[in-house]
Amino acid sequence: MEDCLFCKIVKGEIPSKKVYEDEEVLAFKDINPAAPIHILVIPKKHITSLAYVKKEDEILIGKIYTTINKIAEDNGFKENGYRVIVNCGKDGGQEVMHLHFHVLAGTQLGEKIV
Ligand code: 5GP
Ligand code: ZN
Repeated sequence: MEDCLFCKIVKGEIPSKKVYEDEEVLAFKDINPAAPIHILVIPKKHITSLAYVKKEDEILIGKIYTTINKIAEDNGFKENGYRVIVNCGKDGGQEVMHLHFHVLAGTQLGEKIV
């Protein structure tokens, strides 16, 4: 999408600190980390939010989770653990309208909401 921040990151128009990349998935460091390790994992394809994931995206979404596990292993935080968060829509606190999975790690994470 033309004016989407994360599509611009996918296209390299905005720089990012990449952690992982393949044909379908990109992972990069969050610019404003909320934990010692804060990685955003996104589909390269523009999907506005979790609410707009379609049947045809089911394999892609599954792949994002296995990619997160690979990132955890490759970056040494698989055993200590991590938290994966997807904010969806206004009430969910989503600010960038391109589906993204926050991966937080590197410390005992704080308050559990759920
Ligand atoms: P949301 O609130 O939409 O779930 O999360 C958006 C995330 O994107 C925030 O954690 C924010 O710090 C991150 N972010 C916003 N703009 C940029 C950017 O230009 N580069 C990177 N790497 N992260 C960004
Ligand atoms: Zn996008």
